[in-house]
Amino acid sequence: MDDFMKNILYVVIPCYNEEDVFPTITERLKIKMQDLIKRDKISTASKVVFVNDGSKDKTWDMIEQLTQKDTLFGGICLSRNKGHQNALLAGLMEVIEHADMVITMDADLQDDINAMDEMIERFLAGIDIVYGVRRKRDSDSFFKRVTAEGYYKFMKFMYSDLIFNHADYRLMSRRALEGLSEFKEVNLFLRGIIPMIGYPSDFVYYDRSKRFAGESKYPFGKMLIFAMEGITSLSVKPLRLITFLGIFIFLVSIGILIYSIIRHFIGETIVGWTTLMVSIWAIGGLILFSIGIVGEYVGKIYLESKGRPRYIIEKSSNID
Ligand code: UDP
Ligand code: MG
Repeated sequence: MDDFMKNILYVVIPCYNEEDVFPTITERLKIKMQDLIKRDKISTASKVVFVNDGSKDKTWDMIEQLTQKDTLFGGICLSRNKGHQNALLAGLMEVIEHADMVITMDADLQDDINAMDEMIERFLAGIDIVYGVRRKRDSDSFFKRVTAEGYYKFMKFMYSDLIFNHADYRLMSRRALEGLSEFKEVNLFLRGIIPMIGYPSDFVYYDRSKRFAGESKYPFGKMLIFAMEGITSLSVKPLRLITFLGIFIFLVSIGILIYSIIRHFIGETIVGWTTLMVSIWAIGGLILFSIGIVGEYVGKIYLESKGRPRYIIEKSSNID
């Protein structure tokens, strides 16, 4: 291998209606990439690739214009909006054969791009997957912080492999990406799947700042769906919990039976209309909830069995 082709870095960035941040992120990344190239950390063939996830604003026009005048940048345009996770996957799978390492990050500059340096150092030291982990969440609203951290803890309970406070800012080597390409599931929750790949991995800590411009593309409803998706696409623990819940309620009902028989022999008549109503509602609710969870999994099986494409690429620019 000659020097030109050594350590090619591709940075993959999914973009959905990001015209407000676009000029800033491209400018900052250009400086960062030039610096890394100058210090001989990465190859001059390295690139930044934007994945347009069906934006309704000028994002793709901006990407296309930029890629036409600057070979450092490339663009991939999906046929429609497929969500952050699928956009990321599309980007990763498209660049797999061009890169030795790939870093993924969000377009909104919330992830500190200076953490890239350390990620690359780890890669050069032989690490395959480097996870970017948020040190604290000062920049998020109280609500987002509490819900997100609570969610991570719950996920850890449901599925132990999840990395606390790690989103999708990470570096992956080519062989780790090839490992990822073997996972064929349609219901995709990348940050849960990537630890399953294995290989040496490490962490880099950084401070997450506020979204640079524009609004979050993850309002509460979308976040809730994403959270549910994360749990049910990774583990079947909720199904098992239902079984335990059923056993527990059965035991409780035996207790109540014994209690009422004793009351009967003591000679006291049962007055508990209220308790009766309460238990009917409680059990009815639990049954519906349990059926709902089972339904979630059945729905997943339905979608997986169809094997629909996870994304479709409409066009690309400056990707060989
Ligand atoms: N994004 C995307 N498709 C979507 C929603 C978001 O590609 O349907 C991108 C978005 O452009 C950004 C990243 O995913 O680069 C994270 O989104 P955002 O910052 O809005 O999420 P938050 O940080 O608020 O959770
Ligand atoms: Mg963000």
